[in-house]
Amino acid sequence: MSDLRQEIQNRRTFAIISHPDAGKTTITEKFLLYGGAIQEAGMVKGKKNSRHAVSDWMEIEKQRGISVTSSVLQFHYDQYCINILDTPGHQDFSEDTYRTLMAADSAVMVIDASKGVEAQTRKLFKVCVMRDIPIFTFINKMDREARDPYELLEEIENELGIGTYAVNWPIGSGKEFRGVYDRMDNEVIAFEGVDARHEVTATHLQFGSDELKERLSEVQYQTLADDIELLEGAGDEFDLDAVRHGKLSPVFFGSALTNFGVEPFLKKFLTMTTSPLPRNSDIGVIDPFDERFSAFVFKIQANMNKAHRDRIAFMRICSGKFERGKEVFHIQGGKKIQLAQPQQLMAQDRSIVDEAYAGDIIGVFDPGIFSIGDTVCDPKLKCTYSGIPTFAPELFATVRQKDTLKRKQFVKGVTQIAQEGAIQIFHEPNTGMEEVIVGVVGQLQFEVLEYRLKNEYGVDIIRDMLPYEHLRWIENDEEDFDYKKLMLTSDTRVVQDFRDHLLLLFTSPWNITWALDHNENLRLAEFSQNS
Ligand code: GDP
Repeated sequence: MSDLRQEIQNRRTFAIISHPDAGKTTITEKFLLYGGAIQEAGMVKGKKNSRHAVSDWMEIEKQRGISVTSSVLQFHYDQYCINILDTPGHQDFSEDTYRTLMAADSAVMVIDASKGVEAQTRKLFKVCVMRDIPIFTFINKMDREARDPYELLEEIENELGIGTYAVNWPIGSGKEFRGVYDRMDNEVIAFEGVDARHEVTATHLQFGSDELKERLSEVQYQTLADDIELLEGAGDEFDLDAVRHGKLSPVFFGSALTNFGVEPFLKKFLTMTTSPLPRNSDIGVIDPFDERFSAFVFKIQANMNKAHRDRIAFMRICSGKFERGKEVFHIQGGKKIQLAQPQQLMAQDRSIVDEAYAGDIIGVFDPGIFSIGDTVCDPKLKCTYSGIPTFAPELFATVRQKDTLKRKQFVKGVTQIAQEGAIQIFHEPNTGMEEVIVGVVGQLQFEVLEYRLKNEYGVDIIRDMLPYEHLRWIENDEEDFDYKKLMLTSDTRVVQDFRDHLLLLFTSPWNITWALDHNENLRLAEFSQNS
């Protein structure tokens, strides 16, 4: 096998999605520990301790101790080269979180066993489904009181609309947690219940063995026997093809904090998930093993160094090999360029990369030429990857400058920041920028906007929150569509985005249904593919 093929085949690029506090950071740390990329826990994010976070470049991040944009971590485990795309949670949730998922080949969904499917997981899951990527489920915190495992699986199936296959099955939970039964290897991995700071040494026991019977109470042993019978009887075959197409989620139970079940999960996940996937482009599907380099920009991080006002464009390599210093073609700019200061995150450190392969993420210095969704490629390939969709914001506010004399800087600032994809801006149809409505996915985006307008453009703003929570793009052909004739509830508003596409702002899902019921031909979309 050629080196290129081998390198790409060993790559696994995935995102971890979860609701805040489900255990994403803890599990990521365990992965890095197994891969030897870090030596101690507590090093991944600075949010809960004094160590500086991996991605605290921006001033606002330092002040608040959180990461504004998602970071990418690369490490090795066995023969694999793993890229983990971090999706921020809490108040730093933003559109970037969604866009990051466009760069992943699969997703690991971490669920708190006492809580089940939560709001943020649901949102991120939707994006994964849109792309049909494999989704693996890790049901975490089994060392605490957990909900009934059957109920948890049913909830995932009903709420998220994906089939589940339990790869292992828990024996009790909380103080009664005794381990898991591995259905593929037909053995019990026994939990030793160690102090949270120590690693567990898992014992592997055959079902039916005396040792296992000794470890479990009679009730637990019988429950396990019944569960095994029930699961086998349910007859759901493990179907790898369905997994790879995002139709079936393999489910694992464990406890990230006590290190239980994380490494077995990682091992199975790495074999079940895919190496970098082919991607659609305007000239057809591009094979990752194609020797010609290609990549698309999925994130732009502005102002990492205030003194230089520089930006870093993060790109996902889709095919071939990136070599430092080699010329590439920037499709949208229409010219050959050299990617400057290409860098990668290796757990703790950023380092300059000399080469990188399909599946990898690199950040390059951006003198202001890139937009989200842009393609760069080998001049001999010249393809354009389909754009990254625009995701519907959920928080809206009108903003204006405090000092009317600063109108020009204000308009320039919000327009540029919107072009970078850090916020979305809307206005009354056919009126230009008289009133600017800003839409965001997470509250922190408003704060970033305020901070950047003040620091980079010298403009203070006044922000008034609006009651809208839902946005839908109008998909009807604008030629023969008159928005003025739409029948809408009085609290629904028609606006335009900066590409002049019409859309509707709603205060509740009920109003969306109302609009669809009263306007026969109206077609609405939750994502805009026109970027
Ligand atoms: P994130 O917000 O999803 O990144 O969650 P964290 O990894 O920061 O975990 C949130 C809290 O849950 C922390 O206090 C962790 O120590 C704790 N936690 C994570 N995994 C487990 C687990 O398996 N068992 C228990 N008991 N606590 C856990």
